[in-house]
Amino acid sequence: MTEEQETKKCPFCGEYINTKATKCRYCGEWLNNFCPYCGEIVSKKAEKCPVCNSNLNKNEKSSFKEKNSTAFGIFSLVFMFFVIFITITILVYIWNG
Ligand SMILES: [Zn+2]
Ligand SMILES: [Zn+2]
Repeated sequence: MTEEQETKKCPFCGEYINTKATKCRYCGEWLNNFCPYCGEIVSKKAEKCPVCNSNLNKNEKSSFKEKNSTAFGIFSLVFMFFVIFITITILVYIWNG
């Protein structure tokens, strides 16, 4: 039995770990979390990529904002229809009265 394990350096603590490892057994950092901007392994807890300095939480926040604005758009659309409906009802009432 040969013990030739392929190893890679943990980007967080510098220890050599199994290439297939998804979590460092020395410092406990996850190694399957990649920066969407530069592709480097970054800590799951990191808010900013240490390699390219990109904000990693920005995406979640902007999508949340988008969802909010969509909900607000639907609400204002419904409100607009409601106002038009009331206006037409009043106009019809005046014309008939
Ligand atoms: Zn480590
Ligand atoms: Zn990056």
